[in-house]
Amino acid sequence: MPELPEVESIRRSLEPLVSGRQIVRAEILDSRLVQPELSLDIATRLEGERISTLGRRGKYLLIRFESGKTLVIHLRMTGSLRHRRAGGEPLPYERARLTLNDRCELVYRDVRRFGTWRLLGTNELESYLNARVGPEPLEPDFSPELLRGRLAGRRTALKAALLDQRTLAGLGNIYVDEALWAARLHPARAAGSLSRQATVRLHGAIREALALGIARQGATLRDYALPGGETGSMQNEFRVYGREGKPCERCGGAISKTRIAGRGTWFCPRCQRRR
Ligand SMILES: [Zn+2]
Repeated sequence: MPELPEVESIRRSLEPLVSGRQIVRAEILDSRLVQPELSLDIATRLEGERISTLGRRGKYLLIRFESGKTLVIHLRMTGSLRHRRAGGEPLPYERARLTLNDRCELVYRDVRRFGTWRLLGTNELESYLNARVGPEPLEPDFSPELLRGRLAGRRTALKAALLDQRTLAGLGNIYVDEALWAARLHPARAAGSLSRQATVRLHGAIREALALGIARQGATLRDYALPGGETGSMQNEFRVYGREGKPCERCGGAISKTRIAGRGTWFCPRCQRRR
């Protein structure tokens, strides 16, 4: 499932290919993508829009148009975007296609069909996003104090709190596990129990894990790929994620797998002791 680094990698790769381009034809092939709106209605409204810039908020990709409207895309579990020459054969699990005025097209694919497209006006965008996502962990104003405030008083498991997009924007299963290992924090301890020092470690670890993910252009485990079809290489950098039974690079002990907040969770029982 794409997290902040994967969506940011898509944004960086796609923006130079599509900015300034106009949508000459929009086809929404799966009504679920835009519900409760109607496919034909959204397609009609997209046609003629000119792309200005691409943004990102948490795991949302924002295609901003010169008109002020924004197409807000969430890839959920298996959504992906492909940029290619126009007029190709339909791709497997193709759910939408935007034909641009440079003879290229943007094809949206989604096996599981949980992804969403929302076309929002300037006034709606901010409230839509602010209701769903908290602060951006890579922004300069994200400080250890801010993180501490987000976790304060919460008795839920630390991992569950970090997976909650309203705590912080953009973290998912991979980068939470990696950050908690780097910060030497047990994923099941209470979110509000962190000392000031532990919060500083976690703050740094979250930013480093996300920055490394972006530098490696994301992690390709199954469906994720860049718009040109290239894969990311963050999966080669995992210290705990998916490494059950393998040695911890820090202490040599075996990595464990458990289940927290309904998600497979990997950690080192020696380095990440539960207080
Ligand atoms: Zn260890």
